[in-house]
This record gives sequence, C-alpha cells and structure tokens, in this order.
Amino acid sequence: MLNFTVGPVQAFEEVKYIGGQDVPYFRTSEFSEILLENEKLIKEFTYAPKEARCVFLSGSGTASMEAAVANILTPGDRALVINGGSFGERFAELCKRYEIPCTEVKCESGKALTYDQLKPFENKSYTALLVNLHETSTGVLYDLSMLSRFCRNNGIFFIVDAISAFLADEIDMEKEGIDVLISSSQKALGCPPGISFLTLSRQALDRIENNHYKGLYLNLQSALTNMERGQTPYTPAVGTLLQMHARLLKIKELGGVKTEIERVRRLAGHFRENICKLPLDIYSENMSNAVTAVSTRKCSAYEIFMILKNEYGIWICPNGGELAEKVFRVGHIGNLTITDHNKLLAILYELAEKEILV
Ligand SMILES: *Cc1c(COP(=O)(O)O)cnc(C)c1O
Repeated sequence: MLNFTVGPVQAFEEVKYIGGQDVPYFRTSEFSEILLENEKLIKEFTYAPKEARCVFLSGSGTASMEAAVANILTPGDRALVINGGSFGERFAELCKRYEIPCTEVKCESGKALTYDQLKPFENKSYTALLVNLHETSTGVLYDLSMLSRFCRNNGIFFIVDAISAFLADEIDMEKEGIDVLISSSQKALGCPPGISFLTLSRQALDRIENNHYKGLYLNLQSALTNMERGQTPYTPAVGTLLQMHARLLKIKELGGVKTEIERVRRLAGHFRENICKLPLDIYSENMSNAVTAVSTRKCSAYEIFMILKNEYGIWICPNGGELAEKVFRVGHIGNLTITDHNKLLAILYELAEKEILV
C-alpha cells in the first residue's frame, strides 16, 4: 500500500516500532517527562511565546476545535469564521452549537482569501477570528500574515486550526500573534489518530481561567492544571503520545521544523512540476505544501481514486459533496519520498496513455 491521503498518513519507522510494543502505565514520572518534552518541542516548532502552554486531548482534531470554541469563547463574543470549505463549515457549526454569535466570511471553493474580503468587518467590534489555516478540503492555504494584521489592527483574538499545516507550512505563533493554535497527531506529524493538542497564549490562558467552562472531558482548565506536572485528567491515548514523542525528537534530530517543512515542500513541488503534462488542472490557489488538489477534465475524479485503490493499492484522497466527481487530492505528508511520488506519477501517466485519465 502507498498512502497519499491527508491522514492518517504513512508512518515513519520510529512510530511503527512503538506501535508494536505494549502500552505502558502512565501515572509515572517517566511518562510525565515525555509529555512535558512533547510540549517543549511543539512550542519550539510553532515558535510559541515563552509563557504559552500546550495541552493534549484524546480525540481527533475536531475535539480540540470544539474545546477551543467551548472553553475560550462565550456568547458575549462576536466571532468571524473564515469558511472556504468543510473545515470552515465545522467552526461555524461549533459556534452555532455553543451559541457564540458568528459571522461567516465565505470564500469561493479553491480561492485564496483577500484583504478586500476582510475590509467590511474592520472596526465592527468583532472579538475573535477563527480560521483553518490550511482548508484541507480544497488545499487552500490562507495568508497567515494578512489575517494576523487584520486581527492586530482590530484587537481581535486569533484562533488558528493548523491541524494539516503544522510541520508542512511555516507558522510563527509569536510573530503572527496567534492566541490558540490547534493541531493533531495524524497529519504531518505522521502518527496514528487519537491525540489533538492546543498551544495557548497568555491571553487564551486568561480567557480559559475566567470562563469557567462547565464541561468535563474537554475541560481545558483541568487539562492545564494536570499538565503542570506532565499529566492528563483521564487516561490519554498513551501509545499515540509516545509515538508523537519519538517523531518530534526525530524531526529535531534531523534539523528541526524548518528542515521538515522543506522536505514536504520539495515533495509537493516535485509532484506539481510533473503533473503538468497530464490532463489535470491545479484546482486551488495558494496551496499548502501538505496537499495538491487537482481537477479532472472529462473523467470522474472519484473513478480515478477507485482505480488507484483497487487496482494499484495506492490511496489518494477523494473529495466529497459537489467536488466528488471533479477533484481529488494528493497528500505530501507522512513517510513519503520522491520515489513514492514517481510511482504515483508513472501510474497516472499510464492511465492517461490508456485514455482512462482524460
Ligand atoms: C484533519 C483536519 C481536522 C480534524 O479532523 P478530525 O477528523 O477530527 O481529525 C480539522 N481541521 C483541518 C483543517 C483538518 O485538516
């Protein structure tokens, strides 16, 4: 199997090794040290301010999206949600469920966001902006510095879902004034699903302390209190946290976050350069390094996904909804190489020659 989806992705050796071992008991000083080191490395890789703190929740990425909305915002806030696809939609839905007044900035599918689209919301007493930095459903990477400028100019609290951008695209939490940065284990970190995590600025920590969120399992105040000693309130996905630790250490050993992002960027660049002779078009503007979204011209994109899966044992990412027949995505995250990409390209060329990919 060769996996070019956007998560769970193909695992690295150090991650697979831990997957084959027993899961240890976790109320120990040894495990606490590992969790605290995970926090330290994540803060380092996201350029988090010194006073920022990180907490780990057991659940997929959406658990941390929900925890952010529920613990940090209140019905007294006025939120802006950048909505350019299914993940933007999810933030809007969370705001509705928690009764946070919310205005959506709708982006056309596959299109970048411009400052002109934000202008109508300037000086309008919005208090929070929520964005999925990489809208994984279309591959669009929003302009982080532009959003950061908008938030700074308007004194807006800045929540960034970087679930598929962390380790694939540059993120500087301090420079961009990000208050909440969300990510999870199964995307560019290349681990199994099960853990998502939030890095929280001083301002976010203050909001959590003052809001007194009543929920139990996604309660960030109790997660923070426990994390002071490197623990979690309930049994976490212990194995996944150990795998994350091994992977974070490996990234550090190989040169750190810049080297890792460069590795992913090279794979994305190689793939994008080599698909231009195929009857495919790049679907989105300003794409993340994590994924390439392409549209087919005549054939069904879903059919290509099925042929690759069933006849070649290769997984790419199909799209849902309106884009299902038109768009598929090829991920560049996880344990993938140039050779792997060349294998996929060779098969796509073969399908084009056979006039299946048309
Ligand atoms: C993958 C992803 C999520 C989380 O999805 P889960 O299925 O809950 O892990 C959230 N936002 C973005 C942008 C993602 O790519």
